[in-house]
Amino acid sequence: MAEMYYDDDADLSVIQGRKVAVIGYGSQGHAHALNLRDSGVDVRIGLRDGSKSKEKAENEGLRVLPVADAVKEADVVVILAPDQVQRTLYAEEIEPNLNPGAALVFGHGFNIRYDYIKPKSDADVLMVAPKGPGHIVRREYVDGRGVPVVLAVEQDASGTTWDLAKAYAKGIGGLRAGGIKTTFTEETETDLFGEQSVLCGGASQLVQYGFEVLTEAGYQPEVAYFECLHELKLIVDLMIEGGIAKQRWSISDTAEFGDYVSGPRVIDPHVKENMKAVLADIQDGSFAKRFIDDQDAGAPEFKAFREKGAQHPIEATGKKLRGLMSWLKDSDTDTDYVEGS
Ligand code: NDP
Ligand code: MG
Ligand code: MG
Repeated sequence: MAEMYYDDDADLSVIQGRKVAVIGYGSQGHAHALNLRDSGVDVRIGLRDGSKSKEKAENEGLRVLPVADAVKEADVVVILAPDQVQRTLYAEEIEPNLNPGAALVFGHGFNIRYDYIKPKSDADVLMVAPKGPGHIVRREYVDGRGVPVVLAVEQDASGTTWDLAKAYAKGIGGLRAGGIKTTFTEETETDLFGEQSVLCGGASQLVQYGFEVLTEAGYQPEVAYFECLHELKLIVDLMIEGGIAKQRWSISDTAEFGDYVSGPRVIDPHVKENMKAVLADIQDGSFAKRFIDDQDAGAPEFKAFREKGAQHPIEATGKKLRGLMSWLKDSDTDTDYVEGS
């Protein structure tokens, strides 16, 4: 059984006694910063010159500084810029300004696991990674709940890094839902595998294929959209509440029988072999290298994928239908994807 932590296992005063700099104010950055502030923690934000996020942070009453100055003021530095910029940001702005003995906090283990960042030996290096998108991390905290987190310590120079990790996790509301002890390696590899095979890659491809098969067979795209995309959330909500068993209990016997007959036919054992190949590319670093090399070259492969995805016919159908469901209107924070930031 995994080692789990809840609010009673952590002492919030540990993080309340530190000066925290959150570098980056995007999906995770804004959520960590605001939740910590509301937990009574001294927070400042580090952003680059001309940052688009500056105004958002200042509108929340947060103090925004250039990255170097935020790091100089802090004894806890939280790196929440995108994974692909962290290496350069760390080398140029963070490490040269880092106070001796300051702690480095990550929201994902990528740069440590693949050696893009090699911290000095006197730094405490820890991770508190929410298992959910940043905007939900903030929303759940405000509603008195929390998104589960995983915690890891890579380097424990002070001997007290675990206390800091637990206090930080409590400060962002993660220990209300529960924290699991892990390592940078386990978090990075399982996170990449989950998002590629099941959550993002697997689910997106499954939805697109389902939509294509129905529309190519002459069914109306609007009906195909509801069937293959919209209802997915309703089914997944039941899984979250009570596992696959509750989902199967709620659906009709017809649907349940079809689940057993056709599930393994669509997702056949070959898919499991494909998943193992995906995991192998994660473990041997070839996925990480492909991503970072492409980013370093100006992201041509990434941009081409993104453009192709946006052109899929399901997007136009969905846009029209969501416009008719008033409760699905984008909130101001959730429109970032439209602007592509
Ligand atoms: P975002 O893409 O949302 O981060 C954007 C922020 O980073 C903006 O404030 C942006 O500022 C700033 N930024 C971008 N480039 C630079 C730069 N060169 N120098 C300084 N600041 C910069 O990141 P995420 O929140 O998605 O990811 C942050 C970390 O959290 C990653 O390690 C990720 O893996 C992890 N994580 C993310 C999750 C998520 O929900 N998105 C879930 C769990 C973990 P500007 O306005 O200047 O562009
Ligand atoms: Mg993840
Ligand atoms: Mg991830």
